[in-house]
Amino acid sequence: MDKKKELGEFGLIQRLTSRLKFHASNSVLGIGDDCAVYPVKSGAKEVISTDALVEGVHFSLSTTTPEELGRKALSVSLSDIAAMGGTPKRVLVTLGISKKISVSFLDRLYAGFNTICNRYKVELAGGDTVSSPNSFFINVAIIGEAKRVFTRQGARPGDLIFVTGTLGDSSLGLKLLKKKKSTGASKDYKFLIERHLDPTPRVQEAGILARSRINITSMIDISDGLIQDLYHICKASKVGARIQENRLPLSPEFSRTCHRDNTPPLPYVLNGGEDYELLFTLPTDGVKNLKRQFLKAKALVTQIGEITLRPQKVSLDKSDGRSEVLPESEGFNHF
Ligand code: ADP
Ligand code: MG
Repeated sequence: MDKKKELGEFGLIQRLTSRLKFHASNSVLGIGDDCAVYPVKSGAKEVISTDALVEGVHFSLSTTTPEELGRKALSVSLSDIAAMGGTPKRVLVTLGISKKISVSFLDRLYAGFNTICNRYKVELAGGDTVSSPNSFFINVAIIGEAKRVFTRQGARPGDLIFVTGTLGDSSLGLKLLKKKKSTGASKDYKFLIERHLDPTPRVQEAGILARSRINITSMIDISDGLIQDLYHICKASKVGARIQENRLPLSPEFSRTCHRDNTPPLPYVLNGGEDYELLFTLPTDGVKNLKRQFLKAKALVTQIGEITLRPQKVSLDKSDGRSEVLPESEGFNHF
């Protein structure tokens, strides 16, 4: 008999949520009642978001392990909280379970949740469990706290544009995954594929920015691609942007792979998506402080361009000296 049937809805929830310790927090009441209950800290702001991941749209069960899927499902939500300058505190997880999903798959998924909850001190505060006729899906709702909130609006002409980490790794990794270049793959391939399957939410970097006195004028996390997400800042702030090709931060693994496989890097770097790096702006007088803080934390940050007056246009200064306006719509879009 199907083990899910044997356990029943409540047995399954009990099994998934009670066997692992999802970070002990200050909850008044955790999983098991109609709601979880938390005290509210005065002065802090609450930042909340929700994200759905659907099999066949956001992930493929043939290229990801359940542990990786669990880690990524939470990491991308943590990235949203980081993008606001917040600290993630708790998540609620809804599962739409299709027929082919086994209990051991779910155990391994929750082991992935557990890794991220413990790594970032986030509590699993509850969720919902339903059946789904076709595709498996996961929804993660996340709640965080912020002392200062960074939004997409507020960038001013003359502000400098910065990005954490490196760009393009994830989308090149996805291409390699699809070509099944993961088996017996080189170290570089493995690195890129891991950047796709197991992105690092920039919670640490967001904390550095939030604690600093730097005047961060806008921020977003790069999920749809550098250019599309930069356009989001430009639209919300009613400004334009100019970025420089030769400043874009690339990992050595990415550069070597593009070179070896004769792959033009720019489409991945500009429009690849799922980098989950932070993209933010600040006036020039904050740059020294920013660089000092990131150096101290051994975290990577790179200036890639500046905000311009030209409303809602993003242009690229190419390495060959030419300049071009970039279209908005080449990043990821569901419809
Ligand atoms: P209700 O009938 O009120 O919707 P449920 O039976 O769905 O309550 O949930 C019971 C408890 O288990 C609640 O605390 C809920 O948040 C939690 N829960 C349900 N499904 C999950 C899940 N997939 N992961 C974590 N917690 C869950
Ligand atoms: Mg329910």
